Amino acid sequence: MGTLVMKFGGSCIGTTAALNQTLNIVLHESHQWGQLVLVVSALDGVTDILIEAADMARLGDQRGYRRIVATLRTRHVALIGTLPLEINEKAALEGEIDRLLLEMLNLYQGIAEAPTEKAALTQYDATIGMGERLSARIVAALIRQNGIPSVALDGTGLIITDDTVGGASPALTETQHRVTSQLVPILERQIIPVVTGFIGVDSSGRTTTLGRGGSDYTASILGSCLHAQEVWIWAGVDGLMSADPHIIPSAQVIPRLSYEEVAELAYFGARILHIRMIDLLRNSQIPVRVKNFRSPRRAGTLIHQHSPHTSQIVKAVTSISGFSLTVPLSSYIPTLEEIVEQVISAVPSGYADVATSSRSSTHYAVYFLTPTAAGPNALHQIRAALSSALQANPRTQQWELQPVQIITVIGAHLNEVPGVTAGILQTMSGIQILALMQGPTGCSLSVVVAVEQAVDALNRIHQLILSSG
Ligand code: ASP
Ligand code: MG
Repeated sequence: MGTLVMKFGGSCIGTTAALNQTLNIVLHESHQWGQLVLVVSALDGVTDILIEAADMARLGDQRGYRRIVATLRTRHVALIGTLPLEINEKAALEGEIDRLLLEMLNLYQGIAEAPTEKAALTQYDATIGMGERLSARIVAALIRQNGIPSVALDGTGLIITDDTVGGASPALTETQHRVTSQLVPILERQIIPVVTGFIGVDSSGRTTTLGRGGSDYTASILGSCLHAQEVWIWAGVDGLMSADPHIIPSAQVIPRLSYEEVAELAYFGARILHIRMIDLLRNSQIPVRVKNFRSPRRAGTLIHQHSPHTSQIVKAVTSISGFSLTVPLSSYIPTLEEIVEQVISAVPSGYADVATSSRSSTHYAVYFLTPTAAGPNALHQIRAALSSALQANPRTQQWELQPVQIITVIGAHLNEVPGVTAGILQTMSGIQILALMQGPTGCSLSVVVAVEQAVDALNRIHQLILSSG
């Protein structure tokens, strides 16, 4: 009877039906495990709206952010209204929600009136992490109503981080102390804590966030601090898939993956898991399951130490948007490299990366990508920052920015098995490969292609996966 950490994504708690399904899972697992810890995301779509509101506040658009706060109130109160809560519990919960919404309005006002951009940014994470604080209270109330003691806990009391805005890193030793002093006693009293995912606190007491999709990371931090037996990530899909099913309808669930394979999958575009969660779990050897909350009996995907040796070398193919910067070699390359370096280091950590660069006799090309955890606007932002830096520099004259797709094939040891790389390239015949790179762990191979050819490339590689399974 060990400890299980379960994280529920926004789609698992966003509607009454979803919440009831989640509740059934919690009730069932509470009998199977010695201790249960829940981590929740904001209701689906809420973080996107909070980011929009924070941006409005930065522009001083008071009516805009007030309207959003009102919409959020309506959604949360309507959801609470459909739950079978006792009258006192319901009133207390609505009171809590209103208190948080008021706090939110004050934070937005602080952002709108901040004298500098830097001062405005100090409140930013506190606002975008509000969704989790709202949802955790609803989930805990629902569990309590079903006769099981439960309490909502803010990640600000547990997860200590550095002070990076928008994508902080946890300070594990301090977090371990907090978990031992704050969380363990609750578990020992057989209370189920519902911890807000995504948010933490820095040493000055400022609320921080762990990057988009960061609730998974919270679950893995808690799992590792508690030496949990397993971490389960509940989502709206059956597990990690061999391709994005929205693009490739024949995509299949991958039953097992190694930590390395999953890290590559998350980095190169699978939107299910937060990239940084994997390292921690690998170090503490905690298995992770990704499961569909609508069909909890299905096994989902198990992520653990070793990927078994099967004939299925290539397990998945992903695509991620990027862009290329091409310049004639007559430009001053060291200046260009400096600009690239500066632009990348100026954006919040992990928001942009150079996938690869290459040089021909006439041109120099750099391929950029933004990891999934950076969120949907990151690519646009980095592209805009790069073009204004290039424009401002007299030593860079001609340059071209073009959108591209980075298609990545994932499978352990694919570089060592004879014929695998050749088979992948063969299947791409007729598709123009702009750049090619082998991942340093040997379990990924990426090709850069024009946006128009990406779906064709994905289809062909996925066909290869299906035929070798
Ligand atoms: N709510 C946050 C987001 O949408 C964190 C998470 O869902 O994991 O990015
Ligand atoms: Mg997620």
